Amino acid sequence: MDVIAERRIDEDVETSPLAKILATGQISHAYLLLGDEGIALSQGLWFARGLNCLQSEGGTPCEVCDSCKKALHGNHSAIHQITAANGRQFISIEQIRVMQQQAYLSHLEGRYQVFLLAAEQLREEAANSLLKVLEEPPAQTVFLLYAQKDLDILPTILSRCQIVRLGEGVAVSQEEMLAKAADWLNDLSQISADKILSWGDKWDKDKQGVRAFLIAALQCVHETILKNTREQEETAVPAFIEPWLESAAILEETIESLDRNVNQRLLLDVLVLKLKRLLG
Ligand SMILES: [Zn+2]
Repeated sequence: MDVIAERRIDEDVETSPLAKILATGQISHAYLLLGDEGIALSQGLWFARGLNCLQSEGGTPCEVCDSCKKALHGNHSAIHQITAANGRQFISIEQIRVMQQQAYLSHLEGRYQVFLLAAEQLREEAANSLLKVLEEPPAQTVFLLYAQKDLDILPTILSRCQIVRLGEGVAVSQEEMLAKAADWLNDLSQISADKILSWGDKWDKDKQGVRAFLIAALQCVHETILKNTREQEETAVPAFIEPWLESAAILEETIESLDRNVNQRLLLDVLVLKLKRLLG
């Protein structure tokens, strides 16, 4: 990498949403970094160094301690990069299995075990295997998925990651989207059929926007489920969670149908009516 490119990444990193996350110290177990592959990788590795740095300030890696040095040389035992191996196009299910085993082993080095994964190299089988780990994330483990676009990524994976758009300065848009989706789910009971129909008109033109909104709604539903099942510990799933589980399945189906170009207007009308019945 030449000096100019390296400096540009350094500057980007200081204003990156990842720097803000490190500064707050509130670390999620899974992120999807969206943006140019080179930038996502270098910022992802920078984030991994920050998580494990022995003398970081405000979460920023010092780049000189033993942990940072090891990471910079690519031999930190708690930082893993997973991409398609042996000239293949996709990450194999075996690679995900090995990753799973590593993730659940207690690691000797570093505070966080970090896995960087090329999300666009995941096919359905490997993605489903990854999903199991994302659903029951091991402690002190962070999954950093990266991709140029979120379009080809399974909604079930997307909904379990905090989405970080690189090169856009702030991650606020995702938070705003989540807040809007949460309001929308809360208001379902008061929504009239007329209003549902008028939404269809608005949504007709913006497929990308609709998809992002539905993913945010799915994230809200997952959060509700997680929160309530965690509080219940070992006992059976409480009855009031069932409509939420069903809602998650309906949202997932809708997003998948949207991707298959099923009539968007019809999909959304049916979705809202079903959710209104379940959650309203
Ligand atoms: Zn350091």
